[in-house]
Amino acid sequence: MKRILVLGSTGSIGINTLEIARTFPDKLEIAGLSVNNNIELLEKQISEFHPAAVAVCNEKSASELKKRIGNTCEVLTGDEGLLELTRRDNYDILLSALVGFAGLAPTIEAIKLKKRIALANKETLVTAGEIIINLCKKYGAELIPVDSEHSAIFQSLIGENENNIRKIILTASGGPFLNKSELENVTVEDALNHPNWKMGNKITIDSATMMNKGLEVIEAFWLFNLPKEKIEVLIHPQSVVHSMVEFCDGSIKAQLSMPDMKLPILYAITYPERYYFDTVKTDFKKISRLTFFEPDFNKFECLKIAYKTIEEGGTAPCILNAANEIAVEKFLAGKIKFTRIPEIINDALDNVAIRHNADLQTIIECDSTTRKYLNKKMS
Ligand code: MG
Repeated sequence: MKRILVLGSTGSIGINTLEIARTFPDKLEIAGLSVNNNIELLEKQISEFHPAAVAVCNEKSASELKKRIGNTCEVLTGDEGLLELTRRDNYDILLSALVGFAGLAPTIEAIKLKKRIALANKETLVTAGEIIINLCKKYGAELIPVDSEHSAIFQSLIGENENNIRKIILTASGGPFLNKSELENVTVEDALNHPNWKMGNKITIDSATMMNKGLEVIEAFWLFNLPKEKIEVLIHPQSVVHSMVEFCDGSIKAQLSMPDMKLPILYAITYPERYYFDTVKTDFKKISRLTFFEPDFNKFECLKIAYKTIEEGGTAPCILNAANEIAVEKFLAGKIKFTRIPEIINDALDNVAIRHNADLQTIIECDSTTRKYLNKKMS
């Protein structure tokens, strides 16, 4: 029996993870769940999966849940409750599907307990990649990507020597604005309308700006220990080839399927095994064509900025991430135009000091300095 602690259980990755747990009741068990404030759905999840404990970050929602469920399940509250849940040694796999910077601290707790980290929260590696990779080595914790592109590369690298990698090719759907030339007046609704993937709001806006791919380039940089010159992005609107690796002899390996996050989630749980699963069906006779082309770095400036922060190093990706979270929040709230997002990120990168050889405390400070700088400026 594998015991899974799901952080962010009411988001799209969390829901898909529980669907997998439902499919394999004799192999997978839910040890714990965490949510920000969606206690309606959490209550249903508790009664179906019977976790030992749950964490609810929003204090008000937590006390409401306690009233509703009584003693059926322990309810931990706030950020500290979330950390306590991850510190309990009653699980084998941490499935981290939190949104944004909030994913960092609980992941570190699980690494210290030598757990397998099934990582869907890319911001953890973007902001603190070096620290996370070093901690995983130190404690012997496994880090398995859930992001579909990184899962594809991870799968393509099995049995290979990393010195033989010529480059990796991260595929990108291009998002809803791939064929739109004028982005000045796009609405929140337009940006939330992703052609291939049904996901949470933050990542869907990141897909529209292509910052999602930018964050994934940084994520790949840390996960696969490759210079940025060996990480290429290619637009592939059908999202069937999830990513590829080209080796020194010119051979290329890829992992393919119809787009469905259940596959990378399942693999992060079962690796190095595979479970029999027939929910996702890929019929090449029905896929008329697969196309690929270069992204437009001028139109999708966020992608360009992400590459630049790898070059700058230190806390530059952390500043990028915090500024992007703020900008996306403001765009979703209708306070700024879509095209302001890269401008805000550039502003933060120009004005918040980049620190090198940063420890965890420095990263936390850098995140909060960036947020304070932008919130003050935009209030
Ligand atoms: Mg992805």
